[in-house]
Amino acid sequence: MTERTTDQRPVARAGAVVVRAGQVLGPSELRWDGRGVITEVRPCESLTDAERRSVLSPGLVNAHAHLDLGGLAELGEAGVGAGGEDFVSWVGRVIAARATWGQEERRRGLSQSVERAVAAGTTSVIDVDSTGWSRRELPAAAPRVVRCRELLDASPARSDSRSAECLAQLEELVDPGAAPASLVVDGVSPHGAHTVGDPLLAAIGRRVGGAEGLLNTVHWAETAEEVRWLLRGEGPFASWLGPSPRCSGAERLARAGALSGAVLVHGNHPTDGELDLLREHGACVVHCPGSHLYFGRDPFPYASYRDAGIPVLLGTDSLGSNAALDMRREARLAARTLGIGGEEAWRLVTEVAAAWLPWPEVTGRLEVGAAADMVRHVLPGGAPPRQAADLLGPLGRVTEVLVAGDVVHAEEG
Ligand SMILES: [Zn+2]
Repeated sequence: MTERTTDQRPVARAGAVVVRAGQVLGPSELRWDGRGVITEVRPCESLTDAERRSVLSPGLVNAHAHLDLGGLAELGEAGVGAGGEDFVSWVGRVIAARATWGQEERRRGLSQSVERAVAAGTTSVIDVDSTGWSRRELPAAAPRVVRCRELLDASPARSDSRSAECLAQLEELVDPGAAPASLVVDGVSPHGAHTVGDPLLAAIGRRVGGAEGLLNTVHWAETAEEVRWLLRGEGPFASWLGPSPRCSGAERLARAGALSGAVLVHGNHPTDGELDLLREHGACVVHCPGSHLYFGRDPFPYASYRDAGIPVLLGTDSLGSNAALDMRREARLAARTLGIGGEEAWRLVTEVAAAWLPWPEVTGRLEVGAAADMVRHVLPGGAPPRQAADLLGPLGRVTEVLVAGDVVHAEEG
């Protein structure tokens, strides 16, 4: 289906090409260069039957995952449909399970996450790497990954023995502007606005933002308890986090310089003034619909972000709180639970998310000059799509996935 032509230029043909939401081409062929950048998109009628029945689309972006938690898949599957699980007991189960893993379990879990993500059409992931395993063990057939090293050293007012270690880990990260072109680049992830000390957060603030800085992703405003403690020092978090900074999470990040261009994850409970801060600092928010349902959270305030002009991206979170790492499913869930149309949901997992990635050629569109990150789909009955959203249906199949023009997944048979 995707072959090398006699002049060694790779080419892919399909009965339809979804360029972007709102733009679908008929039978076409795409070519790309040795760097995996598309050089030509043109009509083509000489297709095999299999090519004619298939559709090419841009690859999908997962804006929040923990690939190293693939070993928790049973936990993620068990919760779905069972009414979810209390968050604090879930965190306890995750920590306990992780503590029992040896090298082999970790590697298997990471591979499981990567394989499932790629097989579902994911070509880029913003990953939170809490242990450093993902840095060393990423399989060859993988999506592009921004591996954001997770740093956590206690609480705002109190650092502990982990601080020095975290600062050393931060030092090891390579700014994308200083790194050679690669499909895997470094990023950073202070765990949360409530679990990182002032000196560490300030050091992170000096490394992030702008085209040259590290991508910075932070769990933010996930639970009402976290917000209550940050603002007033009250609630169940008070006993283990100590004195509260008595300001919102966004304010704390902004003061440290760590809000600039930040990718804030969850954002279920933004407080007064925080949306203005996010907009002023060019931050975005990631919603994880499947994980959100797993924990039975209150409705996500999508309209508040949209009205405030703050981009919303979609992610899966880990297999520990989701039954799949499938962005078509997340987009489907988003369309259903956020009251948005399928075309808007498609934009969130392609163009909107791509704008936050450190590879300028990844645009979330299939066009000349864009990365040859693409997915081949077969719709029920081989029908051509009328719009991008037709590719989100549960009955469509992903049969082939390419990253930078290389095949990283192909359906057997
Ligand atoms: Zn997460």
